[in-house]
Amino acid sequence: MKFTDLGIIEPILKALKDEGYTHPTPIQEQSIPILLNRKDLLGCAQTGTGKTAAFTIPILQHLFNSRNDHKGHRKIRSLIVTPTRELAIQISENITAYGKYTGIKNTVIFGGVKQRAQTDALRRGVDILVATPGRLLDLISQGYINLKDVKYFVLDEADQMLDMGFIHDIKKIIAKLPVKRQSLFFSATMPSAIIDLSSKILGNYQKVTIKPKQATAEKVEQAIYFVSKPNKTKLLIHIIEANPEASILVFSRTKHGADKIVRVLNKAHIKAAAIHGNKSQGARQRALGNFKKGELHILIATDIAARGIDVEELSLVINFDLPNIPETYVHRIGRTGRAKASGIALSFCNAEEKAYLKDIQKLINQQIPVISEHPFISDGIEDAPIPKSTSKNQQKKPKRHSNHTSKNSQQNRRVSSKRRRY
Ligand code: AMP
Repeated sequence: MKFTDLGIIEPILKALKDEGYTHPTPIQEQSIPILLNRKDLLGCAQTGTGKTAAFTIPILQHLFNSRNDHKGHRKIRSLIVTPTRELAIQISENITAYGKYTGIKNTVIFGGVKQRAQTDALRRGVDILVATPGRLLDLISQGYINLKDVKYFVLDEADQMLDMGFIHDIKKIIAKLPVKRQSLFFSATMPSAIIDLSSKILGNYQKVTIKPKQATAEKVEQAIYFVSKPNKTKLLIHIIEANPEASILVFSRTKHGADKIVRVLNKAHIKAAAIHGNKSQGARQRALGNFKKGELHILIATDIAARGIDVEELSLVINFDLPNIPETYVHRIGRTGRAKASGIALSFCNAEEKAYLKDIQKLINQQIPVISEHPFISDGIEDAPIPKSTSKNQQKKPKRHSNHTSKNSQQNRRVSSKRRRY
C-alpha cells in the first residue's frame, strides 16, 4: 500500500514525499482510514512504529479541510498531550514537517523552561498545541490557554503518564475539553488503570495493536565501546580507517555535535557530511543523495534528520552518542541490516551515558557485547557507577545508583576486538 491509497490530501502527500516516506507503516495503514473517518481510536503501540504520523496526518487533514470555517484569530482545535518534553518536541517537529504545505500552525509547551516564548507563540495563535501535562495546566490556570475549541484530542504514551504520576493532571485536562470531539489514545501497554482511563476519554472507538519492532534489534550485530568523550572522535577515525569501503551512518545527539564531528573528520582527510535541521533542505538532500549513491561514505545525522533515510547498502551504524530515549536506539540500529540479513551497530558510551545504556539493554532485553580491546579504552568507564540521568525512563522511575557491575558478568560479555574487523 502507498500513501496515495489512503485518501490523504495533496499538500500532506507532498510533505511526506519530502520526508522520503513512500509506504505507510502498519500503524499508519490501519489508523489513518479510521481517523479520517472521524472515529475514536485506541492504539496499542509505542514510539518507533510511526505512530506520530499515524495520528498527526489525519488531524492536519481535518484542520486543513475546515480551515475556512474559522476566520479571525486561530483557536486551538487540536490538543496533543504527551509525557516528556523530548516527545513533545519531536511531535511538534513532525507536525511542522508534515503540515508545511497546509498553513496549519502548531506550537509546543513543556515545563522546566521559562514560559515567555511559549505564551508569545500562543498569543500569536496556533491550531495544534502539543503539551506536557504540568505546563498545560499551569498555562490554563494563568488564562493563556482555553480548550473549549478542541475538536481533536490525543493522549500519547498513556502508560508512561501513569508511571510518571500524571494521572490526576490528565483527568483535570479531560474535564476541560468539549464533550464533542474526536479522541485518540495511545499506550504501549494496557494495564487496567489505562483501560479505565481510556473508557473516560474515548467514545465508540476502534482498536489498533502494533507489536514493537524488537526483531530488528535481534537481527543487528551490536557492540559497545566504553570510551571517554574526548576520545570518541579518535575512535571514530580508527573505525572508519579500518573499514574503508563501508557506508557508515553516524548518529549525533545534537546538530552542533554533528558539525563538530564533520570538522574533525575533514581535518583527518576523511570526507564526511552532516545532515540536521540547521542545514538547508538542498544541502541535506545533496548529502543524502551522495551517500545513497555511494559517493559519500560517511554521513553524520541527528535523529530528526535521519528520518526517512533508507539506504540499501548501509553496512554500519555508529552511535557516537547514546540516545537518552531507548526506543531511539532501536530505531537507529534498524537503519542497518535491512537489505542484507544482518547489519552492524556500534555504540560509543562514556561514563555519563551508562544510564542510557542500561535503559536500552532493558528495552531490547539483551546485553550488548562490549569491545574491551581498542586503542582508546578509557580506564574505569566500564566499571564506573551508573550516573543519575534525566532520560525519559529515568523520569519515569527514579533509579538507584547501581553498584559496580560484577566483574564476572562483564567478563562474560566481553568480546575481543581481534575477532572483529572493526
Ligand atoms: P514514531 O513512532 O512516530 O516516533 O516514528 C518513528 C520513526 O519513523 C520516525 O523517525 C519517523 O520519522 C519515521 N517514519 C514514520 N513514518 C514513516 C514512513 N511511513 N516511512 C518512513 N519513515 C517513517
